[in-house]
Amino acid sequence: MLRSHYSSEIGEKDYEKNITIAGWVEDIRNLGGIAFAVLRDKYGRMQITAIKKNDEQLFKKFVSLTRESVIMAEGKCQKNEKVINGWELLLDKMEILSMAAAPLPMGVVDKVNVDFDTRLDNRVIDLRKDENKAIFEIRDAFIKYASEYLEKKGFLNVHTPKITAMSSEGGTEVFKINYFGKIAYLVQSPQLYKQMLMATGFDRVYEIAWYFRAEEHDTTRHLNESTAVDIEMAFIDSEKDVMKIAEEMTDYAVERILDENSKQLDLLHVSPDMPSLPYKRIRYDEVVEILQKEMDFKWGDDIGTDEENLLSKNVDEKIYFIVDFPLEAKPFYAMPRGKYARAFDLEFNGMEISSGAQRIHDYKMLLKRMEELEINTKNFEEYLNAFRYGMPPHGGFGYGIERFLMRFLNLKNIRECILFPRDRKRLVP
Ligand code: ATP
Ligand code: MG
Repeated sequence: MLRSHYSSEIGEKDYEKNITIAGWVEDIRNLGGIAFAVLRDKYGRMQITAIKKNDEQLFKKFVSLTRESVIMAEGKCQKNEKVINGWELLLDKMEILSMAAAPLPMGVVDKVNVDFDTRLDNRVIDLRKDENKAIFEIRDAFIKYASEYLEKKGFLNVHTPKITAMSSEGGTEVFKINYFGKIAYLVQSPQLYKQMLMATGFDRVYEIAWYFRAEEHDTTRHLNESTAVDIEMAFIDSEKDVMKIAEEMTDYAVERILDENSKQLDLLHVSPDMPSLPYKRIRYDEVVEILQKEMDFKWGDDIGTDEENLLSKNVDEKIYFIVDFPLEAKPFYAMPRGKYARAFDLEFNGMEISSGAQRIHDYKMLLKRMEELEINTKNFEEYLNAFRYGMPPHGGFGYGIERFLMRFLNLKNIRECILFPRDRKRLVP
């Protein structure tokens, strides 16, 4: 490797020893006879000091560095209580690995506010900022701990197709693609496939999945390409078994993040105080009562953004389930309970982060439901076949990763939570 140490690895044991560090030149100051640079690596920053009279050639090369150039620097690690970390590298040898063009399209350390589009246009530079990196470290932790919980509970990690001939399963618009001359679609969720897997005997599956949705949203909570934790589980008694997994997975991941990621949480100024389990349940009928006090809302209406905001103002808890939705508010595969669906949404500070349900497993009932909703069963033949030769009762949920992070980290825009966001206007970088 090009470095002997990361900034974070150096301590008193290394003083007076020769070390090699590597990273980005965040800042450089030339005082004439002496010059200082701040070098940034994955874990932190360190000072490099160059002295002109020691090596004029080297000094010249050092002070010619542009900000954000990538270098490898070798020298003695010297104690200096006045600088960051309490030590500096006294420069002896340097290799310029990549000289950065100047001026930079945006700064990394400047306090000047750049607009969000400029940040996204220059995302690789934007991601050099500590607070932006921290989001993705927490994202990684969330996925790791959610998976850890699901693995403990016997879920099998699977990957289902993202290109399919089966058209939209719900009201969502899908991206149409040309598949060797045939029409195909990018999946809007793994819904149909994870249900099909319930007919195999795997019993419990999870997928860290891509969703592609061709909706022309222009909101701070919708992406056209997003990721989710999807689960499906068989032999459930009701949707309550699925809700238990959703809340326990959230609680487990949050607790582990609080234990392991305090550095990132501090950087982002978040101290999430989550309620203990079980999370509150609010029936759709109660939601109607609450909303009708302050807005026009009919039983059967969809709970949209305005409704979610108003509801959260009237509920003390920051995270809660809405349960017992009207059947017509949920997709065809949701299991009915009279005029209700055995379905739930998980709301986090007034925004849906997950939807789930017990599904219909009975072939005839499924056909009947699709006919009632005038869905062309021809488009779903392979899906329906999975229900003909032995399908156990089952249910599951889709849980938006960016949605969770946005709420957990109090971020204003969902685009902060995905590396290279895709929205109606943005297809690059
Ligand atoms: P909403 O009504 O909030 O647009 P939805 O009900 O259409 O969401 P579902 O089909 O229930 O979404 O998808 C399951 C989960 O996936 C959602 O609860 C959400 O967390 C996430 N999700 C869905 N669509 C998007 C999107 N366009 N951008 C980001 N996350 C999404
Ligand atoms: Mg939903």
